[in-house]
Amino acid sequence: MLNAEMISFHQCMHCNTLDALCIDTCAKCLNTNMETVMIPGRGKLVSWTTIRKPPLRFKSDGIYHVGVFDLDNGFRVTGRFLPGDDDQLGDRVIAVPSMMTEHTTPTFRVQKNG
Ligand SMILES: [Zn+2]
Repeated sequence: MLNAEMISFHQCMHCNTLDALCIDTCAKCLNTNMETVMIPGRGKLVSWTTIRKPPLRFKSDGIYHVGVFDLDNGFRVTGRFLPGDDDQLGDRVIAVPSMMTEHTTPTFRVQKNG
């Protein structure tokens, strides 16, 4: 099995709420004791689209693809998507090392053969 890139979340040390955003106050209990936790980037493909006119800060990337992914921990995240030829919605995806401009955005591709 391939190793998935880890994706960072923030977890409240008081009520254990996970948040994908980089925040320092828990949205649920307002505790400020948040810690970064790393979660393997594994899940399934929900949808994806092609961006043909990237915003200026991504211009060097040219045409790129953006997807929505449901991670195995129940979180829905958006990120870059590296499409293959016969990818289907619902396919298993895995996070891969990113070569993109913005390194805080996770990059996913479909995991072939399980
Ligand atoms: Zn909390």
